[in-house]
Amino acid sequence: HIDKSMRYIHDVLGFAIMPIQYAGGVKADPHGWNGADQSAYLPFTGWLSFGEGGVDDAEDPDVILHELAHGLHDWLTNGDFSQVEGLSEGCGDYWAASNNRSSGFWSPSDPQYHWVFQWDGHNPFWSGRRTDYAVPYPGGLVGNIHTDGQIWSSTLMQIYQDIGRTATDANLLECLAMTNSITSQEDAAQAFLQADINLHGGVHLSAIEYRFSQRGYNISLPAPVITHQPLKDVKDLFGPYPVTATVTAAAPLTAVKLIYGHGGVFSDTLEMVPGGDEYSAAIPGIGTPAIYQYYIYAEDAGSLASTLPDGAPVQFFSFTTGPDQTPPQIVHTPISIANWYNLPVLLNADVRDNYAVERVWAEYQINGIAQPFFELSHQQGDLYSGYFPFDSSVV
Ligand SMILES: [Zn+2]
Repeated sequence: HIDKSMRYIHDVLGFAIMPIQYAGGVKADPHGWNGADQSAYLPFTGWLSFGEGGVDDAEDPDVILHELAHGLHDWLTNGDFSQVEGLSEGCGDYWAASNNRSSGFWSPSDPQYHWVFQWDGHNPFWSGRRTDYAVPYPGGLVGNIHTDGQIWSSTLMQIYQDIGRTATDANLLECLAMTNSITSQEDAAQAFLQADINLHGGVHLSAIEYRFSQRGYNISLPAPVITHQPLKDVKDLFGPYPVTATVTAAAPLTAVKLIYGHGGVFSDTLEMVPGGDEYSAAIPGIGTPAIYQYYIYAEDAGSLASTLPDGAPVQFFSFTTGPDQTPPQIVHTPISIANWYNLPVLLNADVRDNYAVERVWAEYQINGIAQPFFELSHQQGDLYSGYFPFDSSVV
């Protein structure tokens, strides 16, 4: 179960989490407590340790995954994990319950559907725990980390039902990486929302916010997130100059606008037209050389608004139309002697310009004799590269 969960975390969820106390895979001792009925994750050694009182704990995947989750919490926070309000206990119970629920073994009408520690608990030895714990936050906190953790785990299982296992699991790991040793359940709920923005562009925010708010966590939804590649200077005086932006928000967007003008004044506003998450509008040209300025405004149904750039209208994007007065800048590190023995030889250069770069090529000589030029193609960012078009026969 440890191996399966770690593989799932690495291969499916894409988190490269490993123990921080030693190199290599997670270490565990199935006979760790001289027969006592307890289990633990040991933060000093990074081991999982399982006892054998009552039911043998290492026979129950829920115990194994619960203790593993303490380890994940510890490793994600670099040894700074929180038990405030039983946060880590809740994460452990959730990690076990999520795995259980995903198996489809129990149906919602079975009492076991909501049980954690299905083999070790819910029997004469121990009553176990649950993920349908219905008490509110913070009024239902009783000051016992294992009892209180069920508020967190039960809320996460509601979210699991709404947005699915992998999104909830991934959001939890991303969330925990943003926390420290004093993080409360409410702080973690806020980080969980941020995690959904980081990993999923915020597509689950309204579902998550609903469950957290219903429970009583006082959280605030983030304002719409706008991303946009600023326009470059252009020779074309007439346009139109298309502006596209990706906008995501917790609530449905009610307005996405492009505010623009030229000569230092914001004179016009265009509604940006949606196509999926991408919004677009085009600034018309005035036919003479000018400096245009613009920013983007988005507002959602929760009346949360944001601009790009952040401090608009004081901050804004601008671009110039008219003849290009500034030559491109080329940065190139000469090829070392050693690399000339490794054919074909790759030529790299960083090329940047205030206008779009149209074409990059290299001219060269062999023994003082000019050779035909060759093209460098655009790779990413400012990088252009191409191979010298000769082989070992000329060297
Ligand atoms: Zn625990």
